[in-house]
Amino acid sequence: MPSVTYSSTRGGQTNLAFRDVVMQGLAHDRGLFVPDRLPTVSTTELESWRSLSYAELAVNVIAKFVGDDQVPLPNLRDIVTRSCAAFRDAQVTPLVHVGGHYVLELFHGPTFAFKDVALQMLGNFFEYFLSTGSNGGRLAVLGATSGDTGSAAIAGLRGKKGITCVILFPNGRVSAIQERQMTTVPDENVHCVAIDGTFDDCQDIVKASFNTPAFRDKVHLGAVNSINWCRVLAQTTYYYWSYLRVTDAHKDIPEVHFSVPTGNFGDVLAGYYAKQMGLPVGKLIVATNENDILHRFFTAGEYHRESIAETISPSMDICVSSNFERYLFHLAGNDASMLSAWMQAFEKTGQLTIQGDLLRQAQADFDSCRGDTSQTLATIETYHQKHQYVLCPHSAVGVYAIHQLSLVSSATVCLATAHEAKFPAAVAQVVEPMPPPPTELAVLRDLPTRRVELPNDLATVQAFVEECVFSRPRKWQAVAKHLAAVTVAVGVAAVALQAMTRRR
Ligand SMILES: *Cc1c(COP(=O)(O)O)cnc(C)c1O
Repeated sequence: MPSVTYSSTRGGQTNLAFRDVVMQGLAHDRGLFVPDRLPTVSTTELESWRSLSYAELAVNVIAKFVGDDQVPLPNLRDIVTRSCAAFRDAQVTPLVHVGGHYVLELFHGPTFAFKDVALQMLGNFFEYFLSTGSNGGRLAVLGATSGDTGSAAIAGLRGKKGITCVILFPNGRVSAIQERQMTTVPDENVHCVAIDGTFDDCQDIVKASFNTPAFRDKVHLGAVNSINWCRVLAQTTYYYWSYLRVTDAHKDIPEVHFSVPTGNFGDVLAGYYAKQMGLPVGKLIVATNENDILHRFFTAGEYHRESIAETISPSMDICVSSNFERYLFHLAGNDASMLSAWMQAFEKTGQLTIQGDLLRQAQADFDSCRGDTSQTLATIETYHQKHQYVLCPHSAVGVYAIHQLSLVSSATVCLATAHEAKFPAAVAQVVEPMPPPPTELAVLRDLPTRRVELPNDLATVQAFVEECVFSRPRKWQAVAKHLAAVTVAVGVAAVALQAMTRRR
């Protein structure tokens, strides 16, 4: 089978290779890349995967999309195996049985949040593509973060050849642990920038930079935010993994339900694709906090933008979901012109409303639930007291949802997206005493940090990125200056000599 190709949801770019969509991130028409066809997985094939390790399973799932013409199988195996080896648990994403259902622990990677699963993989794909000729071997990654994405991106890109990584975050508005997870990384290709503004300001700078073709092309700009197709693809594996482990233990379970704490819709979208490929998935629950635009969409058909409320699950604090456009494209019958019209209307008015058959289709594809701060805290408290299990505030929103929707059973998997030690202030309100944090997080307090402060200004940030990309590390700058001085001196001497010779 040849590799799957990709097209923009808005129709402006078609038939692209995996390598190109990974390197480009966002389509030039501002659409997102979607697969032109979905590979299928038969029951026999699925059964043949039962004995595979997590890494081998991931190789098999990803190889369905990425053939030898894109990444030769031995290279793919190497990329996937190294990405999985960065996890502390041999099972990479272990499944535990708690409170009558399963919890899929996605937080055993370098930064203790589920984004590591995809960003370790993305970093290794970038490195491979750069080493085999993409972009002239160079890539500048510019990302905005309110916490988890930045540290996971840095962990995936640190020390990688040809890559410069610049992460913007709102000064004073990310948690102390999250900031230290970024600023304690010593690698010279990593630059953490505290912007004098909000997360939206940071995101606007990133978006505007992609819309500045001269800058974009000069520095070879690339994206790591959740719109990169590679991230969605990497995340499909753990839906397969969960299904196989649940049915190992319960042979009679025909379908597995998933509850997914949702923000930008990347994680739950991976489950949707797994289901479309033929994995026996029952319900897919979109669990939101007070920032519930998606819950309002799946209950009333109203995708209406509202301002962001700050909650105890900050990685789900969004006003629009960047990956949702991919699902809307499929809901529109893979029709790029219909999708473009929807997005244009939404960008103008901040509202998109669907009704009738379309709404019924959306409700058949996804269930949804909204959990507020007190319901989330109550869930954390109950699981700690009754089951001696500590949930993070994001994971607790997903667990709350399965109680609300009466789906507590061994056929249900709740995705646990972060370790509780990343959000101690919230968890400590209801868990006393707190379990000691993992050593990896505890030591951050004493490590030296490195960060730059910049104003909320596009030109200043772009100039900074150019400096990071084009100026060599300081040591070399000093050597270069020295060399230049020597060259000038030699030049002056030569001219003087010439003049003397001529005079004679
Ligand atoms: C990013 C994140 C989410 C939301 O995932 P999406 O793919 O954006 O829906 C949930 N929980 C945690 C801890 C996260 O870091």
